[in-house]
Amino acid sequence: MTVSRRPMIAGNWKMNGLKVDARKLASGLARRMKKLKKPVFDMVICPQFPLIGLAADAVKGSGVKIGAQDCHFNTAGAHTGDISPDLLKNMDCKYVIVGHSERRSDHGEKDADVKIKAEAAITSGMGAIVCIGETLKQRDAKRTMSVVRKQLLGSLPEGANAKNTVIAYEPVWAIGTGKVATPAQAQEVHAVIRQELGKVLGEKEGNKVRILYGGSMKPGNAKELMALPDVDGGLIGGASLNVVDFWAIAEATE
Ligand code: PEP
Repeated sequence: MTVSRRPMIAGNWKMNGLKVDARKLASGLARRMKKLKKPVFDMVICPQFPLIGLAADAVKGSGVKIGAQDCHFNTAGAHTGDISPDLLKNMDCKYVIVGHSERRSDHGEKDADVKIKAEAAITSGMGAIVCIGETLKQRDAKRTMSVVRKQLLGSLPEGANAKNTVIAYEPVWAIGTGKVATPAQAQEVHAVIRQELGKVLGEKEGNKVRILYGGSMKPGNAKELMALPDVDGGLIGGASLNVVDFWAIAEATE
């Protein structure tokens, strides 16, 4: 049975940009999006927290959605410097990226932390974009599949379904390095993720969950990655900071 999954193009702006950059980028994308009669992809942009309000205003009415790069697992309380998922929802966020490899390495986040953050995002009414992926050392040791399986099963939120959860497979060695997974490498891992999702959520629901590829996706390689049977879009870092490049990647879904 073939299931059609709506592609998602998500831009992870990371810790980049000032107000002027965010306004320009968000409004440039919104302008392009408004010109489309019927977009065939979902577009999400994930700015730094203080830029979320400004970006949300800039994309209003365009169909471009806003996401955050992280959230706390509690909705409120004594957690200095952390961000409430309820506030993100209140600021018009539709998605939260959880478990990005930079959060895992910079902040020591483990699968169990990622899981409860994803659950908090969902409880607050947003979707979770759950990131998983192996390091080069793990790939070289032929541990890619076991690492990805373990991360997926440990990070997947309770009650996950195709509406509230998106998986992003991001080989750590491909993030920001210019080294991109070959189509064969990407498809091989995406197919395993799909298989595991089928076991946990049931085949029907597992088939509906979107699995994004992330790691040096650019206009020049997006089309062949997005054409793969289990690749349903991209989580894009560097190239999402440029309107023309990010838009070209979105168009590669067509
Ligand atoms: C990312 O940060 O999720 C990412 C994929 O970055 P880049 O596209 O720059 O490799």
